[in-house]
Amino acid sequence: MNLQETIANFKNYTDKMYSLQMAVEMFNWDMETGSPKGGISAIAKYMGILSSEAFGMSISDEMNVFITELQKNENKLDDITLAMLRMCKRDFESSKKIPKEEMRKYIELIANSGEIWKKAKMENNYNMYAKTLDEIIKYKIKFIDYRGFKEHPYNTLLDDYEPGMTVEKLDIFFGKLKETIVPLLKRINNSTVKLDDSYMKQHVSKETQEKISHVLMEKIGYDLNRGMLKQSTHPFSTGFGKNDCRITTDYIENDMLASFYSVMHEAGHAIYEQNKMDEIANTILDIGVSTGIHESQSRFFENVIGRSYEFLESIYTKIMGLVGENLKDVTLQKLYESVSLTPIRIYADELTYALHVMVRYEMEKDIISGNYDINDLPKIWNEKMEEYLGIIPENDTMGILQDIHWSQGDFGYFPSYALGNAYSAQLLSYMQKDINVIECIKNDDIVTITKWLTKNIHKYGAIKTPIELIKNISGEELNVDYLIKYLEDKYTKLYNL
Ligand code: ZN
Repeated sequence: MNLQETIANFKNYTDKMYSLQMAVEMFNWDMETGSPKGGISAIAKYMGILSSEAFGMSISDEMNVFITELQKNENKLDDITLAMLRMCKRDFESSKKIPKEEMRKYIELIANSGEIWKKAKMENNYNMYAKTLDEIIKYKIKFIDYRGFKEHPYNTLLDDYEPGMTVEKLDIFFGKLKETIVPLLKRINNSTVKLDDSYMKQHVSKETQEKISHVLMEKIGYDLNRGMLKQSTHPFSTGFGKNDCRITTDYIENDMLASFYSVMHEAGHAIYEQNKMDEIANTILDIGVSTGIHESQSRFFENVIGRSYEFLESIYTKIMGLVGENLKDVTLQKLYESVSLTPIRIYADELTYALHVMVRYEMEKDIISGNYDINDLPKIWNEKMEEYLGIIPENDTMGILQDIHWSQGDFGYFPSYALGNAYSAQLLSYMQKDINVIECIKNDDIVTITKWLTKNIHKYGAIKTPIELIKNISGEELNVDYLIKYLEDKYTKLYNL
């Protein structure tokens, strides 16, 4: 077989693998956005079979032959084939040691655990979920044993989401945040300026909130010809290639800002996915490169754009026209200042957000080291919340049960959220050298911002690594100082410190 034939066969093979993964995603989308309850265990079975088929392909002898052959000719490969090879090689080497049958059982466990978590959350009953969570953790630890690790077992999981990320780097990252943001929050709590968002907690119907979602999506250029908005318990985004990138939100009738910022956030994810180059459409590279880079895009739209005075000013009249009487006293300034200290991560303001993530990071580090007692986790959660944020969640629904991630086996994912914040602040700093970001927002010109992001991030999909992307833009690796400066500037002004 000549090289061109090998490349063609390799691409056909990865296309098939990608299609299986997309089928699993489609089942997942359907389950989360409203499939009949009675069918869930059957769907879980199909998902288990399809996932283990895709997983089997990623570690097969055939894949091994492709990797060996292509590696021999690495200097003759174009960038796209090289990136595909890098991705397949990484998956192959990290997963080949996990027995297929154990992986199948794990995937089935995960497919069923979502419902158990949902019920436990709804009924505020951690014990109902503890056994399943413990089983998931035991699988994660066992898989790391199979896969091996460098320095710290948690590094193996971190690297799955953010290639190159380690406990060593994150300890420095969160250490700096702890040194600066925790004291800043204490100064805010002692300040005479008191901001909250209680005046926003008025009834706004689901229908009106849906209309607001559409105003936002149109405003920031989320293409609904290649996208879709539905409702789910936990807002998320998912994609089936660049031409079908979907999002969900959840409407809470006395808290319109919850959905407002969820839509901004999830649409930010989807816009990233929609702007990849055509050359990689519907291939294994037709995804975001890492969860940290993904979160940087969602955070950019949610925070840098969505929580800016200029953005709120540009939509204020339209939104107020929709919400009607209940919120008639909310001025633009009040809308901008609607900052709240909340026990719920997804509704957190920009300042405390990273502290929510720090709670999870520290817990995951211990859990994955095997250093945990499943029954103590809710207590530890609450203690850390009190120490860093000064709040104790009222109950476990508002505490340890709030996030879907652990029930999906997504340990190692949470740090991505804080990394996303840090990347987005670093991106903003460099974007401002090329364009006037605030003027763009003011002038309804989000397109110029998206073009910059497309040129530097979006178009590459998974072709370039996170470190390459950020270094190309800024000449340095991820640096948390940009985020700290952004938060200090914004919050010392807001609170007049
Ligand atoms: Zn996100």
